[in-house]
Amino acid sequence: MKIAVLGAGAMGSLFGGLLAESGQHVTLLDIDEAHLDAIRQAGLRVQTDQGDRRVTNLEVRRPEAPGAEPDLLIVFTKSLHTRGALSALRHLIGPETFVLTLQNGLGNVEALSEFVAPQRILIGVTTWPSDLVAPGHVSSHGEGQIRMMSADGVLRPEVEATARALDAAGLNCEIDPQVWTSIWEKVAFNAALNSLCAVTGCSVDGLGAVADGRALASQIVGEVLAVARTQGVDIDAERCRAKVAHAIANHRGHKPSMLQDMLAGRRTEIEAINGAVVAKAGECGVPVPHTEILLQLVRVAEARRLGE
Ligand code: NAD
Repeated sequence: MKIAVLGAGAMGSLFGGLLAESGQHVTLLDIDEAHLDAIRQAGLRVQTDQGDRRVTNLEVRRPEAPGAEPDLLIVFTKSLHTRGALSALRHLIGPETFVLTLQNGLGNVEALSEFVAPQRILIGVTTWPSDLVAPGHVSSHGEGQIRMMSADGVLRPEVEATARALDAAGLNCEIDPQVWTSIWEKVAFNAALNSLCAVTGCSVDGLGAVADGRALASQIVGEVLAVARTQGVDIDAERCRAKVAHAIANHRGHKPSMLQDMLAGRRTEIEAINGAVVAKAGECGVPVPHTEILLQLVRVAEARRLGE
């Protein structure tokens, strides 16, 4: 399968590297020249529980450069960069190209729909963790999983072929007809822990060590699940809260990506997470006061750091 990965940061490089290792023809598309150059010169260094090695059978280039249309395009930019990134590579999205997003947040299908027909969009979530340690060097430890489905819910042969390719790369992929349940669960998890850690500067376990931190996280989870119900997605609240509690107990010192982005002076994914929940809540008349205050606080902190 010819696979292109748009946004070859922490996740895009991990997925691209593992897919290339498993024998797929992979091209990484990114605008980070230092990262692209490092891979061109020495291959991609991939550190996982399976070992520390260099993947050298990867093509790398900028999105706007000419190239062949892939069978599968995996979008792994941060959600706020999806539209800009896809605009630069319209020429690579052919009539047979399927596009997969495993990005966090809501609104990813809507963004992809501006560039590709709805029946060729695949959507899902992943629990694989990944960090870009340095240009050309990605690290991921622990176990993860992918749950995915076509955005219109039709199980086409290309959905199965994509799941097989991801699975063969060791990425543990399941086709999930209830994928929206997994997506909303992850939104609830991120809306609670990411935004609270971003605002307080706490690691996940640091937040959980304080009763008020746990109480706020639980309130936000409840609000997001109430909004999910209005969208026809019914989630087991106890299971979702148990995932948050598990992260608090086990993710020692972990700084969620929103806190990392904040500390690095980058724009966060707050609009695709708390922002999207608040927008949907407004449409449906569901009160989400805690989620909204966190949205506003992250916006304030972001504006201050970005000098806006
Ligand atoms: P990242 O910031 O490490 O990587 C994003 C990449 O996109 C960067 O390399 C950046 O240069 C590139 N990019 C930005 N604008 C671009 C453009 N216009 N054209 C091409 N490339 C562009 O982010 P990440 O951590 O890999 O996260 C990607 C997505 O996956 C996010 O939605 C995130 O929430 C989700 N996610 C991340 C993790 C994780 O552990 N890192 C886990 C699960 C889900």
